[in-house]
Amino acid sequence: MMIRPGTEWMDRAACHGVDAALIDASPTRGRNLGAIHRYAAELCRECPVQRECAADALATRAEGVIRAGVPVPERAGNKVRRRMAFTRLRAIAGVGP
Ligand code: SF4
Repeated sequence: MMIRPGTEWMDRAACHGVDAALIDASPTRGRNLGAIHRYAAELCRECPVQRECAADALATRAEGVIRAGVPVPERAGNKVRRRMAFTRLRAIAGVGP
């Protein structure tokens, strides 16, 4: 997760203090993305700030990360998957379509 100053909810995140490389979903050769997705999904499932995280991912146009349990492809990646990821993030954040 990208840490931005002034976002106090991040202190309560299940991934707070976790090595960012463990939840970085960018498709770098040689990385086990399946294992990364599973690990992140575990963290996010019990996270008390999923909604804030999803809203922040929408606001920052996240890419190449897992936010609120949703793998968000990079901008240059699969456009359909990226659109679907943002639809899921909007649902989690509780904002309109
Ligand atoms: S929902 Fe997942 S990525 Fe977002 S703050 Fe929580 S643990 Fe981190």
